[in-house]
Amino acid sequence: MVEAVDSGSKPLLSPDGIRTDGRKIDEMRKVKMEVGLLKNCSGSAYIEQGKTKIIVAVHGPREAHPKHLAQPGRAILRTRYHMAPFSTSDRKSPAPSRREIEITKVIREALEPAVMLDEFPKTSIDVFIEVLQADAGTRSAGITAAALALAEAGIPMRDMVAAVAVGKLEGRVVMDLNEEEDEHGQADMPVAMMPNVNRITLLQLNGRLTRAELEEGLSMARRGVDQLYEMQKQALREKYTSSESAQEED
Ligand code: UDP
Repeated sequence: MVEAVDSGSKPLLSPDGIRTDGRKIDEMRKVKMEVGLLKNCSGSAYIEQGKTKIIVAVHGPREAHPKHLAQPGRAILRTRYHMAPFSTSDRKSPAPSRREIEITKVIREALEPAVMLDEFPKTSIDVFIEVLQADAGTRSAGITAAALALAEAGIPMRDMVAAVAVGKLEGRVVMDLNEEEDEHGQADMPVAMMPNVNRITLLQLNGRLTRAELEEGLSMARRGVDQLYEMQKQALREKYTSSESAQEED
């Protein structure tokens, strides 16, 4: 019996394993990262992952407001994931959706283990994640950019955090779904990791995977995280080498 595959009218994967946007199954979309583009915050980062475009601003550590939220022994980490009204093709209400509230929470939980909050008692560190254009993978690209913005803000961290969504198309595990694949594919699994301490800080699964596919998906996500981590380091290096040469010119 042939297993029914819910992939819309056209196949998402050709028989030789090529996806509708021309990528191979283990190929990430083209990624661009930049840090330090905003002046009115402590740190900022921009990420493009395929057609997904996100900007992140970090404020703090600064005195926590309202004051009753302040913790005597550590900083509080606050996140806000927000999709700009022009970021999707469907009409988006300006009020926070249940989805945005959930993603705000999982992003905070994905970042928190990496940030050394106990170094800044009574303060807050605020991370604003603004999706400018959505083409799937926004929570994972948001986490990657947020960790980069925290590093650019000079906030001490145990490790970086990077994230990618792996998924399943036509029975094959694939790297970094785009919106069409997310919508019509068989599974979507965003994974965030601290690459050096080898800790998973976010794992969600929408759809079904066998145990073997889950394991394959996790090792694929690990390879994606390693690629993103190299790009994060490169983006920080570029910022600091360009600011050093600007200082030398002064
Ligand atoms: N999306 C949309 N409108 C919405 C919510 C989602 O167009 O109100 C699209 C958008 O491209 C998003 C994708 O659906 O990136 C997948 O959303 P999901 O909830 O799986 O989160 P994500 O993959 O972005 O982390």
